[in-house]
Amino acid sequence: MRPSRPANSSAKSRGQAPAPSELVNFLSLIESKREGRALAPGQIQEWVREFTAGQIPDYQMAAMLMAVFFRGLDPVETTALTLAMRDSGTTLRWPRDRRPVVDKHSTGGIGDKVSLPLAPLLACLGFRVPMISGRGLGITGGTLDKLDSIPGLQTLLPVKQIVAQVQRLGCVICGQTETMVPADKKIYALRDASGTVPSIPLITASILSKKLAENLDALILDVKFGCAAFMPTRAAARTLARAMVGLGRQCGTNTLAMLTDMNTPLGRAAGNWLEVKESVACLDPGSDPRPIADLRALVVDCAAHLLVQTGKSKTLAAARQRARAVLQSGAARKKWEDMIVAQGADLKAFTRKLQCDHTAGCVLGVTARRGGFISRCDARIIGEVIRDLGGGRLTQESAIDYAVGVDQLAKPGEAVAKGGTLCRLHAADSARAQAAAERIQDAFAISSRRARPAPLVVEMILA
Ligand code: URA
Repeated sequence: MRPSRPANSSAKSRGQAPAPSELVNFLSLIESKREGRALAPGQIQEWVREFTAGQIPDYQMAAMLMAVFFRGLDPVETTALTLAMRDSGTTLRWPRDRRPVVDKHSTGGIGDKVSLPLAPLLACLGFRVPMISGRGLGITGGTLDKLDSIPGLQTLLPVKQIVAQVQRLGCVICGQTETMVPADKKIYALRDASGTVPSIPLITASILSKKLAENLDALILDVKFGCAAFMPTRAAARTLARAMVGLGRQCGTNTLAMLTDMNTPLGRAAGNWLEVKESVACLDPGSDPRPIADLRALVVDCAAHLLVQTGKSKTLAAARQRARAVLQSGAARKKWEDMIVAQGADLKAFTRKLQCDHTAGCVLGVTARRGGFISRCDARIIGEVIRDLGGGRLTQESAIDYAVGVDQLAKPGEAVAKGGTLCRLHAADSARAQAAAERIQDAFAISSRRARPAPLVVEMILA
């Protein structure tokens, strides 16, 4: 790496294989990081630019990622990495408009479908929402996989269409285009294959580079902790949240984070199509809000914080009331339909599908072996069962069965009679449903005393 060389004169751009001197220069950076020394911002910028251009081989980049995993990055290095990744491709440019541009990002969990009802709700509250989302890997669900279960809906949109739809309707939920943050796409794939995903500076740079490329006025982060989250403990989630909030603010985006519990699934359904169905229930003023009170509360909370962050509401209480009123009016439900139709959904087929009790080959009720109060509904076990039924991916290439999952989940603090329903399993066939029913029993604990359910939002990280 020679910082003095012009950016566009790398061997690849000159149509050549990397020169041995380039490999040696990057090697010296790997060795510096391995020894715990800080890298200069210019060195990081060049490392990202050359890796994105195919100038640094994967084996060297994997070694660098492992060095970062063990040695970390200081705040100056993390900022340089994030901005270099953001600037590796196209960023969204917004026409002047009174409506603030906002987004929410969750670090992922089981049954976490908040993005689906939140985007149309925010559009109705007078925001522009370019929700660029990802696919699930492992047990955590991905927003794009959920949307793929909607007949006809497209999530791979060109940048021009993303901006035009947001300007016209107020919201879009779609995937990262080939031209946006290509550095993250390449680095994330290597992290996944090299065991270097759970690194706080690398997660911070990966998430924030994508959000900063959206050119937002305000961002709310939902950082999850617990048995089914990236961050197992509240303390680890707090460290990650502080790093992201600090960097987001430093880069000029009004950023807040909430720490939320991911020991129990969110809502009562998990699995791609079943989560779309539950999201529509969350938006529907005619449906009973009580069974999905936790989901609704989190959707309303995210909207309320963004209203206060952007000065559109003075207090959180007033903002919550405003968000609830929009949900109750049915406007967000209508906006959801406008959004999915704009992205190619077949509304008639979607409405027919919503009316089906299930779309999987087999549905099986899982029943309690004793009566009492639910004291645990383990999100990790439930996520693993759904992934193994075909609802999640073991590798980026795995095919997904959108119909499988669980619904009617019994949640901590609720009473259940012997033989009462713990959940329903949706599987491709009865053999798979029976095997999953046996495994999912371990997700539930029943005790004779009612334990108070854990709060969902446990802490806000403001700065
Ligand atoms: N999600 C991302 O986009 N990047 C990470 O590194 C982890 C979660």
